[in-house]
Amino acid sequence: MKQVSLQEKATAIAGILDALYPETPIPLRHEDAYTLLVAVVLSAQCTDERVNQITPLLFARADNPYDMVKLTVDDIREIIKPCGLSPAKSKAIRGLSQLLVEQHGGQVPQSFEELEALPGVGHKTASVVMSQAFGVPAFPVDTHIHRLAARWGLSDGKNVEKTERDLKAVFPENTWNKLHLQIIYFGRQYCPARGHKVENCPICSVFGVAE
Ligand code: SF4
Repeated sequence: MKQVSLQEKATAIAGILDALYPETPIPLRHEDAYTLLVAVVLSAQCTDERVNQITPLLFARADNPYDMVKLTVDDIREIIKPCGLSPAKSKAIRGLSQLLVEQHGGQVPQSFEELEALPGVGHKTASVVMSQAFGVPAFPVDTHIHRLAARWGLSDGKNVEKTERDLKAVFPENTWNKLHLQIIYFGRQYCPARGHKVENCPICSVFGVAE
């Protein structure tokens, strides 16, 4: 295994990810910041594929906050049931839409503080919207990115907040948005929670696994 510094390893990993995933299409289908926000809320503990099957049905009824508040929580829940956690998600979607209408002129706000004040929107969801809808550098850390950062030895795996800080420290700001997606693609293709194969892996076969 190569002995390299943390920075050298991070730079090399970014290079490998760039070679593997030169394009970084956004996995959740959406038309604008609002439909992305709703899709991200729906994606909690659900696959992007499932969300992409359900959002066209929901957006056919309401693809903006003004139409969404005309639906009841039960209407929304009925449509989004296959995504799981539908009681909480339907309340969040109706509630955040109401707040957008009442406080933001129907627009999705472009600040972490305002986004995180919306029902059902935590820091990770706000980071995805800031990054993918508004192009603001952010590093949304989900459980998969958290796991990979720990396995690569780029963070100690204490919690997602610490992982976010560690990844932001080791990668240049102008690469965060792209890297977040590349790490997600890599995790899906090579690095499952269980049953990874070090010898087949383009990253740990070079640098070693930190677990
Ligand atoms: S060897 Fe395992 S832990 Fe390391 S990147 Fe590959 S799949 Fe992930």
